[in-house]
Amino acid sequence: MKCPRCRRGEMFTDPNAWKLKHTLKMPETCPECGQPFELEVGFWYGTGYVSYGISFLLSVASFVLWWLVIGISSLSQLVLWLSLNAAFLLLLQPWLMRLSRSIYVYCFVSYDPNYKSSPVSKFDYQSEDYYLKEKKPGSNLPG
Ligand SMILES: [Zn+2]
Repeated sequence: MKCPRCRRGEMFTDPNAWKLKHTLKMPETCPECGQPFELEVGFWYGTGYVSYGISFLLSVASFVLWWLVIGISSLSQLVLWLSLNAAFLLLLQPWLMRLSRSIYVYCFVSYDPNYKSSPVSKFDYQSEDYYLKEKKPGSNLPG
């Protein structure tokens, strides 16, 4: 849960994810390299998909573990697994929300070993290169 660009700066203000008032409290930019974390308005909506995927994988893992250790021979055992799995996911939620944000921002911002001297990462349309590419004759970019 460090900045994807410098891998040094903390992404979250409070190291404890379970202090629920501060779970998603983040600095606007990385305290180490100045990389903005929220790349555009509504950027964090996409983390829902990441969170869903992780929760699904954890549920599959807990189901397989339950099946191997305890077994699913009756409906009550299945219901018990369902309840415990729901409680487990609920308890993990603050950490899952942070993990999803971290994974999501890592998809868009890559590591930069020269972060001290190079400019911060932005979405393509926000960088000057994007417009230079568009003006180039023979370019295959749409629009
Ligand atoms: Zn950074």
